[in-house]
Amino acid sequence: MAEFDGRSLYITGGASGIGRAVVDSFLKEGAYVTILDRSKDGLAAIKEQYGEQVICIEGDVTHFEDHEKAVYQAVETFGRLDVFIANAGVFDGFAKFENVTAEAMNDAYELLMNINVKGYFNGAKASLHELKKTKGNIIFTVSGAGFYPDGGGVWYTASKHAQIGLMRQLAFELAPDVRVNAVSPGGTLTSLNVITPLRPFVKEIDNDTKAKSIKTRNPLRIAMNADDHVGPYLLLASSKSRAITGEAISSDGGLAIRGL
Ligand code: NAD
Repeated sequence: MAEFDGRSLYITGGASGIGRAVVDSFLKEGAYVTILDRSKDGLAAIKEQYGEQVICIEGDVTHFEDHEKAVYQAVETFGRLDVFIANAGVFDGFAKFENVTAEAMNDAYELLMNINVKGYFNGAKASLHELKKTKGNIIFTVSGAGFYPDGGGVWYTASKHAQIGLMRQLAFELAPDVRVNAVSPGGTLTSLNVITPLRPFVKEIDNDTKAKSIKTRNPLRIAMNADDHVGPYLLLASSKSRAITGEAISSDGGLAIRGL
């Protein structure tokens, strides 16, 4: 029997990009998956493809009750919860501190920090009770921006550093019952959204330019796609990682070894 046969995973932001690739990979491994996302169309496409192997919940990660609903339905339908992946996130488009008005920065703070930080907290909090029963684990999607500058603007970088802090504190507090780790992707070709208050201050970049920029920056010269990151999630969720907690695995084409 494969490791994830009959296991139950809950993920936020699974309707698109890196989350969607993770959803596909766990489903392929025999897991049941519950997804919370605000994209109605993205969720409908997954439901159409996978049917009863998935539960799709349209909601917002900043609302604790939406996570409670997801966890309740996962356990009601699949009988258990083994893994929670906090992944839904938004971006600040590399908005430059000096160029953005204080008002826009304040609006951006509310939006971005609520989704990127409180959204991760909410999901972990709502899942904990069930994860304790299965000795399960939590994985955060972080970013190189969680460790060094220039992976985003100030709020994105601050939010990703905060996710690392949250991950480490939870790993410490929830041991020995629940492991908590992170995957840290480098720049990846997805449709990661720039939040509305910062759009007037940033330049929209087309996918070709983005691909060239990602490729030039990392030593492996890869323009990464969402599928390139699924390996570390499968590893960290598995019993083969039972001694790993409080750790972040970089999946960034070697960007981290350059220091920047
Ligand atoms: P994406 O936009 O393709 O996927 C994000 C998903 O989250 C979308 O389906 C979106 O609908 C959902 N979402 C956003 N806000 C939500 C909310 N409030 N409630 C519910 N769902 C919400 O982007 P992605 O690149 O796959 O991003 C996934 C994660 O990967 C994010 O945490 C992001 O910071 C991180 N990341 C991305 C990159 C990159 O270059 N794309 C690099 C490093 C880390």
